[in-house]
Amino acid sequence: MTGTTAALILATQQFEHHPAYEDPDIAAFLFVESAERFDVLPYHRHKIVLLVSAMRHTAARLEAQGRTVHRVPLSDDLGFAAGLGKLLRDHDVDRLAWMSATDRGVDEGIARVCARRGVATRRYEDALFLTPASELDAWFAEHPRTPMEDFYRWQRRRTGILMHGSAPAGKRWNFDADNRKPLPKGGIDVPELRHPSPDDLTAQVMSEVAARFPDHPGDPDRFWLPVTPDEARAHLRDFVDERLERFGPYEDAMAADEPFLFHAVITPMLNIGLLTVAEVLTAVTESSEAPLASVEGFVRQIIGWREYMRGMYRAHPELERANALGLRRRLEDWWYTGRGIPDDLPVPVRTVLERVHRWGYAHHIERLMVLGNWLLLQGYAPRQVNRWFLALFVDAYPWVMVPNVMGMSQYADGGLVGTKPYVSGGAYLQKMGSWWPSAAQARDSQFTEAYWRFLDENEPALSGNPRMSLPLAQMRQRRDKGD
Ligand code: FAD
Repeated sequence: MTGTTAALILATQQFEHHPAYEDPDIAAFLFVESAERFDVLPYHRHKIVLLVSAMRHTAARLEAQGRTVHRVPLSDDLGFAAGLGKLLRDHDVDRLAWMSATDRGVDEGIARVCARRGVATRRYEDALFLTPASELDAWFAEHPRTPMEDFYRWQRRRTGILMHGSAPAGKRWNFDADNRKPLPKGGIDVPELRHPSPDDLTAQVMSEVAARFPDHPGDPDRFWLPVTPDEARAHLRDFVDERLERFGPYEDAMAADEPFLFHAVITPMLNIGLLTVAEVLTAVTESSEAPLASVEGFVRQIIGWREYMRGMYRAHPELERANALGLRRRLEDWWYTGRGIPDDLPVPVRTVLERVHRWGYAHHIERLMVLGNWLLLQGYAPRQVNRWFLALFVDAYPWVMVPNVMGMSQYADGGLVGTKPYVSGGAYLQKMGSWWPSAAQARDSQFTEAYWRFLDENEPALSGNPRMSLPLAQMRQRRDKGD
């Protein structure tokens, strides 16, 4: 008698159209809600609710279609490998298919569990991205150390997105000159971010997560994210209709009282398959209202930065351990708990940190120029920083954290992902976010002090970098004057 051929649906692969659903060989679908997996770090509880609720909704949809579903629920309190092993054994699975995982080590872990039980394996291509892994790897092998801009133009030509024949739409590749402004002085009307009310399934998960992970950050009762493909598409539609138009001009702007501004806030869903890259691109490029500068600015993030970071992660496994500046400081507990935050923490850092505890989200420039900037200036060890981002953000997974945190933000790679450290004093933050009551207070803030100290302390490591010659010259001038 033969066993069952099953497909394992990973938490980060909650696609409406997963290839397994069309695969005639598959007789059952397996879901593992691994409680132990969520114990590895103090993950924000909104992230746990999102993943578990999304899985339960997918499972319920399949069951409503009359498909066979087997689950390990959170309450079994199992590790991922133990949970999978249990499902294979209990349901007599002898062939298992799954979609290749984006993070290193996951496929190997599943294969090991299967090998122990003599289960044959098969994989579908990772559908979280636009670029097939083999093409991406080939590009990175042929273009080591090539900047994102070149990758982006290759993507535009390869896909034909925003192209007229061989020319870019609007006859320019880049509209940065029209973009990246601070918010207007007289104020601006920011549309409210709508979020779905939790249904019964999600409410159940919220209470289970509150009980099982009492010490993790984030209040499960204030969970706010879409958990189904339909809800995620409605959320995307709101962005395209209400915020995309002003995405470009204000993509680098900050405001103390506005956590989302004109950002899409789609990564929590996009990184787990509730939205696909294709549907995001279709919605954005077919928008009739938004100016080309905003559409191009957004497309650049999706087909450029997002796919480039995945390529970097695949091409450079050594990034995970890099520490070019030899930084050693450990993160204090309050970064994780949100309790006992020191009174003298600069206003922008305190505000964004509180926001991360509330939402598990901050927008790009706050991640890079407020949190990342401050963490680097303070000399925290890059792996400590990476661990914190991975735990606290609802959209964080190793493939995207390692290049963004170790590379772009903390300069642990010595200038592979970004060409210089993203550090600044108070003046830049004031220009883009008006964080202090006056420009003079920004200039005299701890941020500015920490900036000059960082340049001084890391002068030997940074002096070979041509993009740092001006800031280093300014620092030397101040030092020589005894400032
Ligand atoms: P928008 O500002 O609306 O941008 C549109 C989309 O572009 C995003 O949804 C995302 O898919 C893509 N994108 C833009 N920049 C990047 C980038 N550098 N890397 C990958 N995708 C990008 N992104 C994550 O998905 N998960 C993370 O955990 C994460 N952590 C970050 C940590 C640091 C220190 C930095 C500097 C960046 C990080 N990013 C991360 C990248 C980026 O900040 C987020 O993708 C973005 O803020 C998500 O919010 P949004 O959907 O509103 O994006």
